[in-house]
Amino acid sequence: MQDAVIITGSAAGLGKALSHTLSSIGSNVIGIDKNTSADIIADLSTAHGRQLAVSSALDLCPRPKAVVANAGLSPIHEDPFAILEVNWLGVKDVLDSFLHPLSKNEGGCAVAISSIGAAVGGDKELIDCLLEARISDAKSILDKALKLSVVEAGIVAYSSCKVAVAQYVRANAKLWGEKGVRLNCVAPGRMETAMLEGLLSHEEIAPGIEALPTGITKSASASKVADVVAFFLSDQSSFVHGQVLYVDGGSESLIRPNVI
Ligand code: NAD
Repeated sequence: MQDAVIITGSAAGLGKALSHTLSSIGSNVIGIDKNTSADIIADLSTAHGRQLAVSSALDLCPRPKAVVANAGLSPIHEDPFAILEVNWLGVKDVLDSFLHPLSKNEGGCAVAISSIGAAVGGDKELIDCLLEARISDAKSILDKALKLSVVEAGIVAYSSCKVAVAQYVRANAKLWGEKGVRLNCVAPGRMETAMLEGLLSHEEIAPGIEALPTGITKSASASKVADVVAFFLSDQSSFVHGQVLYVDGGSESLIRPNVI
């Protein structure tokens, strides 16, 4: 296959919407998911699954056009350590592995998916551990949070991973730029998928989601967010690199108006 766009978490929500958007404009898409409806079935919560995902995608398309590191677990998960594996290592390892293959394709690019959760919080020490590849230290921090509450641990793991993903994109602008590969980040707000449904039906978490300020629109379909990811993948954004864009109806700018 030529010039494929590789999407993790392609079986539902944003990944599925993006697959449709890109296929409808004639792009080749390779979807990776733990769910059986994907082109490549791989569990990104394990190192083996991540390796399998990357090698299978490169077997299908040795010179991909783009990668979208989208797969993510909700903050509501019985195992907060799995959130670190999927939402951080499932993004970082996948992107690191594709840098060289993408550099062989003129116009190669990638998009990482963060979250409005990155603007809301995260644990500084945990974020540093993730960015410095001190995964066992990160797990110790999470272990302490878990002793207090599984919900708290899930929220801390989720928001810290999403900060780390956005910072990874900023920190790698030099390295990726030198290789001629654009790297950007989309941070969705309330996006109408199964993940949001789960959050809104959770007694402890729903009030925080409901309290997010609304700038112009409270929530949007996954295809609205997919349109923005598709823009980052297109030649129309050829001068955009190393950026984090909140696609959230304005929530982030209302939360922290002084951050530019
Ligand atoms: P979703 O739950 O609807 O879909 C996620 C997809 O990822 C599913 O197909 C799932 O099978 C896949 N996935 C999960 N764990 C996996 C694993 N271990 N290995 C392989 N695939 C796995 O979620 P969504 O709402 O479409 O979220 C997509 C991205 O957007 C996530 O990174 C999420 O954190 C982020 N996000 C979502 C919202 C929202 O409101 N929905 C808001 C901000 C950010």
